[in-house]
This record gives sequence, structure tokens and C-alpha cells, in this order.
Amino acid sequence: MGAITLSKVEKWFGDVQVIKGVDLEIRDGEFVVFVGPSGCGKSTLLRMIGGLEDTSRGAMLIDGVDVTDHPPAKRGLTMVFQSYALYPHMSVRENMGFSLKTAGAPAAEIAEKVEAAAAVLKLEPYLDRRPKDLSGGQRQRVAIGRSIVRAPTAFLFDEPLSNLDAALRVEMRYEIAKLHQSLDTTMIYVTHDQVEAMTLADRIVVLEFGKIAQVGTPRELYETPANLFVAQFIGSPK
Ligand code: ADP
Ligand code: MG
Repeated sequence: MGAITLSKVEKWFGDVQVIKGVDLEIRDGEFVVFVGPSGCGKSTLLRMIGGLEDTSRGAMLIDGVDVTDHPPAKRGLTMVFQSYALYPHMSVRENMGFSLKTAGAPAAEIAEKVEAAAAVLKLEPYLDRRPKDLSGGQRQRVAIGRSIVRAPTAFLFDEPLSNLDAALRVEMRYEIAKLHQSLDTTMIYVTHDQVEAMTLADRIVVLEFGKIAQVGTPRELYETPANLFVAQFIGSPK
């Protein structure tokens, strides 16, 4: 479960249209990356899918259900941001279990889900530490762990690695790819980093001024870019 359909989706901020009629079918379990230059609408489109921004026109379906007017909590998706605000006074274990606790889950169930997520993310040795005693990469893992415990239908990532240094970015990129393999959950990932896009994506969506310039596998985009904009962005030789 985790198929997402966007149908003629538009976003207007006042008189300014920033998403200009986007049609997209994301398959269950697919890893889709949104790329494009700064200001092209990547974050806005992702936030609309998550329900953090409303959709001005068009429709959005998750597993066939029209969620266009559903609030974030009813969509079953989870967002992971670059600023992974962890609670400083809570341990890793408490940070990861917090959303389940506020939802009223029993302690035993919380413990089980946190342990399982910690195993996937190799966070077991750090469960009793505070965020300040973790490295940047470990903190980002805790932020992802908070999402995993809720068993979301899909993960929405908005440039989750852009605060990390280059070496750590490469390591976390690899971790996210492994996570996708092991969870088999739909992931939508926003980045302006071509290498991240090319290595992570099943399909890449290239956005240009709020419109889709091209959708395809990394190889399709590299070998047959639809236009010069895509070619330049992907770095293909056309
Ligand atoms: P990206 O993530 O690709 O850099 P954004 O989705 O953040 O782009 O922004 C797309 C466009 O929408 C930009 O021109 C931005 O200024 C505008 N925008 C984003 N959020 C708002 C808002 N809350 N109010 C008005 N304009 C906004
Ligand atoms: Mg953005």
C-alpha cells in the first residue's frame, strides 16, 4: 500500500501559481525523486502530498482514496526534513517512541516498535543517549526512526541530507537506499543534488517552474533527455 496519484494538481499562493498542473502516478514501493532548481516548487509539491499545504486545484489519491482535503494525520504519510528537530531532553528511545506514546499506544508495543526501528537503523547502542551526544548522521537516523515506528504508507523526504558534510551525505545516501530495500515502502525524495537523484531513484521527476519537464528512470533521463533544461540538469551529454 502506497500508490499515490496526482491529477492536474495546482498550487496558487494568492495570484501566483507555483504548481502548474502536475499529473503523476507513483507506484507502491517506488522510490521517486523530485529534482529541479531552487524555487521550482519541489518542497511545495511534497508538502501538498503530505497535506501540509492545501491543494488549490486538482486531486490527490492514496491507494485509490481521494485525500485531497484530508489533513496530514489522515494520510498515513510521514515527512522527514533536513532540520531534524529532536527533543533535546529526551533519549533516543523516547524521541523515537514519542508519536506512538501521544497516540496512546501501550508501552510494550512502543518498546517493540522502537527496538525494531533501531535495529534497521543500527541505533541499538545509542537508545539511551540524548541527541547532543550523537553525531549528525546518528541524529538524522533518529529522525528517520521516529518516522519508521509509525509504519507509514510512504516517506516524504525534503533534502534530508543537506545539513550533513560530504562524507556523511554519501554514507546516509547508502543508508536510505538500504532502508528502502528493507522496508519496501514508497519514498518521495526531494533534492537538488543530481548524484543523489541518480543513485537513489527508481524514477526521477524533473520540475521546471512548477511543471514536470520530464519523468523517467535515471538512465532514460540521461540517455534521452526531453529538452536542454533536463539535459543540463542531469548532466547528460546532449
Ligand atoms: P523549491 O523547494 O523547489 O526550492 P518551493 O516549493 O520552496 O521551491 O517554492 C516554489 C515557489 O513558491 C517559490 O517561488 C517560492 O517563493 C514560492 N512559495 C513557497 N512557499 C510560499 C508561501 N508560503 N507563500 C508564497 N510563496 C511561496
Ligand atoms: Mg525546497
